[in-house]
Amino acid sequence: GLVHPARLFGTARENARGWDLSDESVLAEIDRARAVAIPDARPLTLSEPGGKTRPVTNPATGETVATVTEADPETVARALDDARPWSAPAAERAAVLRRAADLYEAQYGAFFAILGREAGKTLPDAVGELREAVDFLRYYAQQGEDDPRPPRGLFTAISPWNFPLAIFTGQIAAALMAGNGVLAKPAEQTPLVAFRAVELLHEAGVPREALQLLPGRGSTVGAALTADPRVAGVVFTGSTDTAKRIARSMADHLEPGTPLIAETGGLNAMIVDSTALPEQAVRDIVASSFQSAGQRCSALRCLYLQEDSAPHVLDMLKGAMDELALGDPWHIATDVGPVIDAEACNEISDYIAKKSNAVLHRLATPETGTFVAPTLLKVSGINDLEREIFGPVLHVATFRARDLQKIVAQINARGFGLTFGLHSRIDDRVQTVSEAVHVGNIYVNRNQIGAVVGSQPFGGEGLSGTGPKAGGPLYLDRFFAPEPGFAEAERF
Ligand code: NAP
Repeated sequence: GLVHPARLFGTARENARGWDLSDESVLAEIDRARAVAIPDARPLTLSEPGGKTRPVTNPATGETVATVTEADPETVARALDDARPWSAPAAERAAVLRRAADLYEAQYGAFFAILGREAGKTLPDAVGELREAVDFLRYYAQQGEDDPRPPRGLFTAISPWNFPLAIFTGQIAAALMAGNGVLAKPAEQTPLVAFRAVELLHEAGVPREALQLLPGRGSTVGAALTADPRVAGVVFTGSTDTAKRIARSMADHLEPGTPLIAETGGLNAMIVDSTALPEQAVRDIVASSFQSAGQRCSALRCLYLQEDSAPHVLDMLKGAMDELALGDPWHIATDVGPVIDAEACNEISDYIAKKSNAVLHRLATPETGTFVAPTLLKVSGINDLEREIFGPVLHVATFRARDLQKIVAQINARGFGLTFGLHSRIDDRVQTVSEAVHVGNIYVNRNQIGAVVGSQPFGGEGLSGTGPKAGGPLYLDRFFAPEPGFAEAERF
């Protein structure tokens, strides 16, 4: 239905303040947390869970961080039998989510430790991730607290490893706030942080029948949770291929009209024209391509530099890359940590090896751990990119001003539509290009990663996602039962 204006423009609301990494008491708390063993993860279900146990490894060192017991088929089946919508009034649900946000904040040391050791997150990335998770809890609490609409029923939530706390929490918080019961499957690489999060959500007061955690593989646990007719909606973030697979399974097994809210991959471009300020553009290119080791769906994959200023910008870019520190994500000075696992490391390294003739610049790779050195590859344009390479690899092309329209058409023709960056000081150009490019999030004269819950919602179009945007005023609507009259429109 229509969104109430108060929900669009909001009342007073604050985002999480975060943690100052130059504050000695914060650093002392992080050091304390570093010394504490990380708890093993297991399914958090109503019935006694069962399944095989395996180690979870630290991508930077290969060491075992803790173990996870993955849900077996009987555990998944019983979780589906036990699951119930959350029948408490909306105001009470909101209060519980806010309590969970406070618990998350109080546990920052423990969360940073898990994010660093299980997911290879640098400290600044871990701070950003925890802030976003907390923001999702408080924002959806505020969005839904006065909404009397009934929920859809049971939601399956499937999340990726690259934001294993923020996206995991955002999906669950939205589904719960609308009164649904949730069955959550975290990515297989990152069950430990998900386990800690669900423990805190339960501690805050979410009933166990309304939120169950089912760690395990996508092909088994994920597939079972998206093929059960009792599921009334699926919220998914991950690759475009997996989203298509889930959509096919839902079409075969679930009611027609069951929503799939999917946020998927991108082939994100940035155009830097010769009026751009090179110092600023270079800083933003480096952040967009190499922060989080390029493992962000929003990350820059294809950079277009205007021919006349390209040599200068490229020289500066190589110099800025040489300043990047690769290494232990827990070291405060580290800029680029490892990629998520050996499989990802091999895949990205093989891709670079196949393109060795096109390498414009590459840093040295640390000898141990799953590191991929930030790399520049020369291309003639976005059509040379075979697929999304989910790591610190930036493709660079040059362009002439008269070809600008053609480039935008080529970007659009690839069918993805997540983020796009533009560096230019020509106002008309900013306006025309922004209007012509088909993406969810456009960033002008800044880096193109990061969104801010409540003020800069995030999500793509085309192959990059179904919408509505996460952290925005329309997101919760999809989690409520459709209003009479809208049901038919949704079905056909
Ligand atoms: P992925 O391989 O698609 O996995 C995502 C989740 O889906 C995992 O939990 C996975 O389980 C599960 N899954 C796999 N097959 C399934 C199936 N048949 N049925 C149900 N679930 C299944 O993606 P990823 O490698 O974790 O994440 C990287 C991708 O996510 C990139 O493409 C990135 O662009 C995208 N991403 C998009 C956004 C956005 O907001 N648009 C944000 C972050 C990431 P397993 O653990 O077993 O693999």
